Amino acid sequence: MFKMTPSILKNLMTEKATRLYPYEVRTPYDQARGELINDAEKCNFCGICAAKCPSQCLTVDKKNATWECAMFSCLFCGICVEACPKKSLTQKQAYRKPAREKEVIFIQGEIKAKDDPEGCE
Ligand code: SF4
Ligand code: SF4
Repeated sequence: MFKMTPSILKNLMTEKATRLYPYEVRTPYDQARGELINDAEKCNFCGICAAKCPSQCLTVDKKNATWECAMFSCLFCGICVEACPKKSLTQKQAYRKPAREKEVIFIQGEIKAKDDPEGCE
């Protein structure tokens, strides 16, 4: 007990090391990789991001031009952002907020004609 006394006193005198999350949110670091954003205007639904994703949380349907991310499985690793040939993926600095239900980001794009050069490659 006597050995612990200096540590106890030090902890009582210094600022607490934990926060009451989510009420107190820490300011993200400059290069923090947070929630994923897909720009439907740029995306061609090629599916490369889904193929590269280590947590398999992306689902891309080329035929119906849909893109889906199971947000609660995403690791924020940024591999999909680096792999995207159209640069349509970006990451917010903020992390996703806590939620009671599993949320999904769903993007519906324009279905392109087969002979459209902007279509699936
Ligand atoms: S890699 Fe980029 S362009 Fe291809 S489906 Fe994913 S987000 Fe869209
Ligand atoms: S950030 Fe990583 S885990 Fe999240 S969707 Fe992209 S590749 Fe998958």
